[in-house]
Amino acid sequence: MKNIICTLCPKGCHLSVDLENMTVSGNNCPRGVKYGISELTAPMRTLTSTVKIDGAICRRCPVRSSADVPRESVAEIMKLLDTVQLTAPVSLGDVIFENVLGTGADIIVTRNLKAI
Ligand code: SF4
Repeated sequence: MKNIICTLCPKGCHLSVDLENMTVSGNNCPRGVKYGISELTAPMRTLTSTVKIDGAICRRCPVRSSADVPRESVAEIMKLLDTVQLTAPVSLGDVIFENVLGTGADIIVTRNLKAI
């Protein structure tokens, strides 16, 4: 039995996860069951970060993953994002990396930035 806190909403339910029987208790909604099992078997994270951009009003452009990625891939994806240099203009939803590191998620721009 493992005890974890569900981070899917501000309620922060204290979950008890029994991996032997694949059961979860302490959840106040069904999402907690899926979260509890996946957090202990294959944890996933939504990745948010910024990358360098030239020719815009600011020097960094916010980006995120289009879907959750394996937690173990986050550090490697962040290293990849360190190598990116965008040039304005960019638009919300522009894809920087398709299927980044084979995770099935794209890295997309989350802000419109005009060229100056
Ligand atoms: S189990 Fe449901 S109610 Fe509780 S923190 Fe997770 S998402 Fe929120």
